[in-house]
Amino acid sequence: MDHEIFGNGSGDVRCHIVEPAERMARVCEKFGMPLTVFFEAEEYLAFEREREALKKAWGYDPAAELGAQAIDLVRRGHDLQLHLHPEWVGSHFEEGRWILQPDKRTVDSLFETQEDASAYIGQRKAVIDGFYEAAGSARRVRAYRCGAFCAQPGRKLLRALTENGIAIDSSLVKGMVRNDEHVYLDFTAAPEGRRHWRVADDVAVEDTAGQVTEIPIYSRMGRRFQQLTPRRLLAKFSGNIPKEQQRDMVSQLGIGRTPVSVLRFLAQRFPIKLDFHNMSAGQMLRWIRNAPPAPDADLDVIVLIGHSKEHRDDADFERFLAGVAADPGLEVVSMSEIAERLGVRRRKTDD
Ligand SMILES: [Zn+2]
Repeated sequence: MDHEIFGNGSGDVRCHIVEPAERMARVCEKFGMPLTVFFEAEEYLAFEREREALKKAWGYDPAAELGAQAIDLVRRGHDLQLHLHPEWVGSHFEEGRWILQPDKRTVDSLFETQEDASAYIGQRKAVIDGFYEAAGSARRVRAYRCGAFCAQPGRKLLRALTENGIAIDSSLVKGMVRNDEHVYLDFTAAPEGRRHWRVADDVAVEDTAGQVTEIPIYSRMGRRFQQLTPRRLLAKFSGNIPKEQQRDMVSQLGIGRTPVSVLRFLAQRFPIKLDFHNMSAGQMLRWIRNAPPAPDADLDVIVLIGHSKEHRDDADFERFLAGVAADPGLEVVSMSEIAERLGVRRRKTDD
């Protein structure tokens, strides 16, 4: 689950992160399952930087609440991993709103040198490792997710992950293509039928010499109209979502205003992600059970995604976890656990 406010800086830390994440963690605890939280460390550092202004504007200290929640979740057995939206680098809070750098979407775009990129990832990882330490845990960050899936180009990023001992990247969605003003990515060449693969320069290209394993967010190709479920519309357009965010999302999608352009948009081929805020419990279980079998050499792992800010219905989430708990063929594991199991396999193959 990604733990953050909205991509344009709108939203509220209590309402869109802390409260829904706590509710999700409690549902997981009913089943003894860990929740993996991809903690947005760049946003967190911005909240620390603007602590006084935010206290005045929001009436509370968001960085303090995020930090306290992170430590508490670790103590309760949940998992923290690193998530970054580089557009928050150098951000500032002005007249009640965040000014971000929308042209800085990738770690590779932030730095000229590998040394700087590696130091940057090391410092952001240290924020989360600090939460593990404060909670008395020996665990450390083992996995990374790019903000808005912007993992290309990723040469500097992947080296930085390697140099900082981060074994997993989980940013890719098979078949996803984006090419707009600030974002370019093309994941159409990602290995077919695989659960994960090693990468070195590009998350979509297997490189067996790479030290980082790409474990994609599970998806299936469909058409956009298949995503138009009441659940997804509520997740994106309920009264809980800032109007400004809704407007930005509609304009970014490039839907257009004529009936023909809307129909053309809805017919686009598009990867539909296994997202527990956009799909019903029954549909998610069907997709997981019907997933093509993992190749022998692959650890049989399926990554689901969700966002604290889109979490509405505890009962729906509970129905899904109850279905997983009742199925002897399924097991919910944290990213830390996957990193451990991949490490064991890797040592066996390398021997
Ligand atoms: Zn994010």
